[in-house]
Amino acid sequence: MNQIILKNVTKRFPTKSGEQIVAVNDFNLEIKEGEIFSFLGPSGCGKTTTLRMVAGFEDLSEGEIYLGDKLVSSSKKKHYIPPEERGLGMVFQAFAVWPHLNVFENVAFPLKVQKKSKAKINEEVNRALAHTNLKGLENIYPSDLSGGQQQRIALARAIVTNPKIMLLDEPLSNLDPKLREHMRFEIKELQEKFNFTIIFVTHDQSEAMAMSDRMLVMDMGNIVQIDTPANLYNNPINKFVYGFLGQSNFVDIVFEDGKIYPINSKEQELSMDWRKDFKGKYATIASRPNEVIINNGDNGFRTKIEKRIYLTSGIEYHVLFGEQKIRIHTSHEDIYEVGDNVNVEFVNPSWYDLDSDDKEEERIQRQVI
Ligand code: ADP
Ligand code: MG
Repeated sequence: MNQIILKNVTKRFPTKSGEQIVAVNDFNLEIKEGEIFSFLGPSGCGKTTTLRMVAGFEDLSEGEIYLGDKLVSSSKKKHYIPPEERGLGMVFQAFAVWPHLNVFENVAFPLKVQKKSKAKINEEVNRALAHTNLKGLENIYPSDLSGGQQQRIALARAIVTNPKIMLLDEPLSNLDPKLREHMRFEIKELQEKFNFTIIFVTHDQSEAMAMSDRMLVMDMGNIVQIDTPANLYNNPINKFVYGFLGQSNFVDIVFEDGKIYPINSKEQELSMDWRKDFKGKYATIASRPNEVIINNGDNGFRTKIEKRIYLTSGIEYHVLFGEQKIRIHTSHEDIYEVGDNVNVEFVNPSWYDLDSDDKEEERIQRQVI
């Protein structure tokens, strides 16, 4: 069953200059019951706005949202079910715990709003504290707790009302890397116990990949691609998704007189064939650093080692294709010196249309500070 459905959801905000920004553009999305579904994208792409519309904090410029079979938001019908009646648990990026309330009171808060009995509140709070490893800290104030514990209070408060749906907006961003990994695991465990449907918002691709059953990549208010983490990683639909999902090398190329050159550099051709399905004469080829090989024969693009970086996982070399820098990852055994002449080959690169510079500028303008 689908638990969360967005139909043609659009959100426009007025800007200072009197124009409008389309923060979320015509979203169509179905999230299944029990799914962990991530929204991944750079700052300003519309993740939080989408989540706030699902939660009911933001009205819709266009479209409808259903939770289960219930219509909760409709722009046309001017129909909005308030957040507290949507059966949601929410955790946001900033530790939204109240400093003047102790752990117990923080977690009890949503139940007090719902005017539950004292006995019921005790029972539910104890249950939520047990599931988030906060037992024994009932009387402590948040300022005396670590970042991880504070974020657990927020989690406990989100699950205390037994929600069917959890909305998590960059809940781990303020934690140090080790704790982040640990908390991912805890959230997944909670999900398995309670079978929540989760929307998990993040700008961190490894977090999204580790957490999700499915995810979508957003760019400037648009859904670019929806799929499982593995399918997204292996078949990015465009250069933006390719670059967002992992380390990447791009070489912009031009097709002239039957030969392929790096853009702005006609000294040496690339020994590959132009892909027939690419109209026009420009394209970008893409490879991960561990998919580019240095070979000792004559094949490949002749260039030289510009830089060598010794990493725990292997060696990273930098070389130039004309003016464009490429990173190559090899094992520790492949030793080349800076200045060595080498032949470098892209093995089965992905092909994409050239991205215009305007797009990058617009992304920067949208960033949320
Ligand atoms: P994300 O969470 O992906 O970083 P947001 O959803 O917060 O992005 O914002 C998307 C875009 O909408 C941004 O350009 C942001 O500046 C703009 N925006 C968000 N909220 C408002 C608002 N209340 N008024 C005007 N613009 C807004
Ligand atoms: Mg945000």
